[in-house]
Amino acid sequence: MTEIFGYAFNSFLLQGAWIAIKITFFAMVLGLVLGLVLALMRLSRFKAVSGIAWFYIWLMRGTPILLQLVFVFDALPRMGIKFDPFTTAVIGFTLNEAAFAAEYMRGGIQAVNRNQSVAAASLGMGSFLTLRRIILPQAMRAILPQMSNATISMLKGTSLASVIFVNELTFRAQQIIATNFDFFTVFIAAAILYLVMTTLVAVVQIFLERRFNLDLRSVGGQTSGFARLFGGWVSAPAASSEAPATAEAVQAEKERAPNAPAVATPIPLAKMLKPIEPRTKSDPTDQQPFVVCRDVCKSYVQRGHPRREVLRGVNFDVKRGEVVTLMGASGSGKSTLLRLINHLDVLDSGEITVEGKLVGYERKNGELRPVSNLAGARAAARIGMVFQHFNLFDHMTALQNVMEAPVKVYGVAPAVARQRAMELLSSVGLENHAHHFPHRLSGGQQQRVAIARALAINPSLMLFDEPTSALDPELVGEVLSVLRKLAEGGMTMIVVTHEMRFAREVADRVVFMDEGVIVEQGTPDEVFERPQKRRTQQFLRMVGNH
Ligand code: ADP
Ligand code: MG
Repeated sequence: MTEIFGYAFNSFLLQGAWIAIKITFFAMVLGLVLGLVLALMRLSRFKAVSGIAWFYIWLMRGTPILLQLVFVFDALPRMGIKFDPFTTAVIGFTLNEAAFAAEYMRGGIQAVNRNQSVAAASLGMGSFLTLRRIILPQAMRAILPQMSNATISMLKGTSLASVIFVNELTFRAQQIIATNFDFFTVFIAAAILYLVMTTLVAVVQIFLERRFNLDLRSVGGQTSGFARLFGGWVSAPAASSEAPATAEAVQAEKERAPNAPAVATPIPLAKMLKPIEPRTKSDPTDQQPFVVCRDVCKSYVQRGHPRREVLRGVNFDVKRGEVVTLMGASGSGKSTLLRLINHLDVLDSGEITVEGKLVGYERKNGELRPVSNLAGARAAARIGMVFQHFNLFDHMTALQNVMEAPVKVYGVAPAVARQRAMELLSSVGLENHAHHFPHRLSGGQQQRVAIARALAINPSLMLFDEPTSALDPELVGEVLSVLRKLAEGGMTMIVVTHEMRFAREVADRVVFMDEGVIVEQGTPDEVFERPQKRRTQQFLRMVGNH
């Protein structure tokens, strides 16, 4: 026994273990980076790009790492590149790990609900920002167990590096045995060293999993070293390192960044949420259309299905300050129309302008083409969107959800954004829930956070896609009352909803859609009491008005 420990603490073997750790560390870090690149390539819609990644993964997963190591060891010098055995081993293990990492990272990325990216896009977040802030932190939960599997197998697998003369642990154990033939004790000592190393990996895994596990987070959690290590990623509730938003701090931030790029003249909250002056619905100066849809057409092609025309020439205007409710049977194209308005989806033909500007298109030879910086165009358009299923960022608290776009997209100083986010949260009655994660909030509360998040970008137009359809009946009222306050404050709003009472009380106009066209529109009274078209009458009977 003492002999075993004698060997385990033998500096010759310990040095071998240290080499194994170093190879694993470097190869894992580099392999994960390369793996992420390959995973993104695999997810690319360009066939050539995803094809190259697929080929690489196929090749590296399909051949033994032993061959790969020897190949790198022999091939590189022939190309005039000379590395020592250690570096060669790191390169070999990196190239191999990347292939596996690519697949488990792709799996993790795909496991994150697509709604999360749609919500990020609606806030003007670009694809890399979305990947870094929204997708990867959530994907980590699925990636971590596989990542630690991979680390453990690489640690053990480093023994293969002896073939290219890396003097690692197993190799050293064999060397000792070659001199004293004490198989048993030496190998047990080596095994103990491997077990200690792999146990450490498992312990790190436990810590990281706790960090990325949303269910284990609670209010007032401690900021652990890991949370600090990963910064905004594993934002534990109390981990927000931003200074408290004292008046002085805010002032200081303002002085530091006197013209923070975006929040150009923030619309005062009061104007957004409180009726300062009642809206004058017939103010003649304000009758210019604010949103204009002209002959909007959109169809979807799905493999194995005939082309489906979802919008077939929609013409539609909204004036500034107007509240329009959009109604129509499921599948009539309402959501598609909203998505096209803030360019979350691309038009087939026709055009849409908001405040006289195309959102993310440029005209070339008379044709509309999406601009290259679509995220920037969306951010500039400031169109707030609220979804049926809330689509809050699940790994962020209510406050962090609301602060995300102002800070990361519009470059607002965190202290300023924080103060404003708190104002917005209290305006929707959630000041006491600022540090709660979405899964701890009721549906109605989540939707109110989502509204606050959309308002945080100072929108000039708000789109609501069935904001109350996913809510229990008793929670509908709290969301509708926020919408009502917004409407009274003069916000321009397009609301897809089947809430007749809301439409009747709040909407200036009801627009009825069917099969991709607008069938009928008018004041709530006209459409609900005297519907002209048969389809409208049928629909109204169905949703229980008559
Ligand atoms: P609504 O919101 O009025 O219920 P949608 O605009 O969501 O209707 O959808 C209209 C039609 O378009 C539906 O039949 C739907 O299946 C189809 N559709 C919507 N989005 C897509 C998509 N990304 N790919 C294929 N079909 C789609
Ligand atoms: Mg819909």
